Amino acid sequence: MTQDLSNWTIDDSAQLYGIPDWGRGFFGVNSAGEMTVEIDGSNGPVQVSLMEIVAGLEQRGYDMPIVLRIENLLQSRIVYLNETFRSAIAAAGYQGRYRGVFPVKVNQQCQIIEEICRFGAPYQHGLEAGSKAELVLALANLTPGGLLVLNGYKDREFIDLGLWAHKLGHPCFFVIESPAELDLLIERSRQLGVRPHIGARIKISTQVSGMWTETSGDRSSFGLSSTQLLAMVETLQAAGMIDCLEMLHCHLGSQIPCLEDIGRGVEEACRYYINLCREGAPMGYLDLGGGLAVDYSGRCSGDGHSRNYSLEDYCQAIVTTIAATLDTTGIAHPHIVTESGRATVAYSSMLLFNILDVMHFEAAPLPQPFPAEEAEILQEQHRFFTTLNGHDYHQAVVLRDRMRQQFRDGQLSLRQRTLGENLFLATAQKVVTTARQSGLASPQISELQDALADIYYGNFSVFQSLPDTWAIDQLLPVAPLHRHEQQPTREAILSDLTCDCDGKLDQFIVNGELRKTLPLHAFSPDENYYVGAFLMGAYQETLGDLHNLFGDTHVASVRINEEGGYDLIEEISGDTIGEILSYVEYIPSVLFDRMRKEAEQAVREQRLSVPERQQFLTLFGDNLAGYPYYKP
Ligand code: PLP
Repeated sequence: MTQDLSNWTIDDSAQLYGIPDWGRGFFGVNSAGEMTVEIDGSNGPVQVSLMEIVAGLEQRGYDMPIVLRIENLLQSRIVYLNETFRSAIAAAGYQGRYRGVFPVKVNQQCQIIEEICRFGAPYQHGLEAGSKAELVLALANLTPGGLLVLNGYKDREFIDLGLWAHKLGHPCFFVIESPAELDLLIERSRQLGVRPHIGARIKISTQVSGMWTETSGDRSSFGLSSTQLLAMVETLQAAGMIDCLEMLHCHLGSQIPCLEDIGRGVEEACRYYINLCREGAPMGYLDLGGGLAVDYSGRCSGDGHSRNYSLEDYCQAIVTTIAATLDTTGIAHPHIVTESGRATVAYSSMLLFNILDVMHFEAAPLPQPFPAEEAEILQEQHRFFTTLNGHDYHQAVVLRDRMRQQFRDGQLSLRQRTLGENLFLATAQKVVTTARQSGLASPQISELQDALADIYYGNFSVFQSLPDTWAIDQLLPVAPLHRHEQQPTREAILSDLTCDCDGKLDQFIVNGELRKTLPLHAFSPDENYYVGAFLMGAYQETLGDLHNLFGDTHVASVRINEEGGYDLIEEISGDTIGEILSYVEYIPSVLFDRMRKEAEQAVREQRLSVPERQQFLTLFGDNLAGYPYYKP
């Protein structure tokens, strides 16, 4: 860090963590240096400090980590998506409507689905389901008039449930993904006397850039090839059901960073749509799947963690491309369906956790004067350290490795090994400091800097709460919740509670750059230090796993009110240790019983007194009923 400590401002901090860029006006920092969540109130913006919410939750007995959901943010995203499409449609004189559906797989949590249906009701925002379980929950939540889009492989039960949804009056679309399911759909709809709404999912050959490039193109595992699509049309014609074919569906991929790719994909989809109309299908709906990206890095660029367009650009590009392509054919504009998942839910959830400890990679003070009788290798390391006058530290690595070898060979004691490690750290620090002072930057220097970064231990599990950061290198914005009035003086990676070296966050957005370390404030065990991982509402909650048996965290859902406070509207306690053990086939009462017998045996053998037996059993029982994360 080059800035003078005394000149540090809260704005510098907001800039450093990119809060105005990825926060999109939903997140900010107040004059007390605390991160805030911000909503549009009827009399202007309303801000609430996240630290105030954390304090309120802790007072109510919730320990960290907590997934915090802000209801207003979800509502705001649904309204914004629908209104922006409406404006684009009105501006272009487009004839069809926008019919949004939320893909349930992006966040199936009951409260999220209920809120989406409630906030989406004025727009008849529907749901997309890709499995029987998702269909069951979708059916029980769908608002009247909302589209129900059925993707995924469908067996007889799946199809029957959808046909009953149709009978109940829901506009339910069976999207055919593979030739085999069409025959089953025809057979079952005849049996149940339903003329279903059918969609055809096609493989779009337009390849998009970004992290999900394989979802598109010829080798995509989903959708029909043009040969299969034609066969589907012929089957429907032969069955006298071509009038049921009403939707063309395609999904170019998730998190599409470039608007140009979306435009090309929509054009290709329109050509299929036109040809299906010409084959005698009534059509009427063009479903473009998901893909609307979230700007996780805040860089507004075409890289995989960002996007080079606004929601306005996205809606306008889709509406005008469809209109322009269809207008040359005289075919009516279809209703536009999108299945925006991450762009709908990412903003509304965040993981809040506290820091438990820090490991520094810093040299302890070297002995003064350096003992002349020390082992030769240590003398050499010391000589290199004192005479080093540049940035070439290669020899320091060679000497350190020789020193380690001598320890392995039994030639150096533990004290000598420690001194050798210290000499290496002191040398590395000298290199980094000199480079910083002279403004020198090189890949080697940044590598060395990263290797010297602190490890901050956070009270959370990557695998349970932020699995995509581990599985697919998903970038999520991370920032301290407070102390923004102070300049952070440390560089760190964040390690979680699991005993797994992959359980860490080491990709951050800092000053608009992707970095392996995050600036953080010096940690003191006497003072709580809270950090948040933001924009984590999409995909993370159900993808999370039980690695090291860390279960679901507590979830708190709040609504920011007009008075600048918040109302706690839902509290869901995280898994207890007993619940987690039952997921892996243990029966907590059996475990308890075993321990009771063992403790009683110990009493019999006079290894425990009766009060000690009781003390132990209470402790064991409290653990079974307790939160698996670190308790202060
Ligand atoms: N629709 C389908 C068919 C999908 O496979 C996906 C996700 O991959 C989505 C919608 C949601 O995509 P996104 O979260 O990018 O909006």
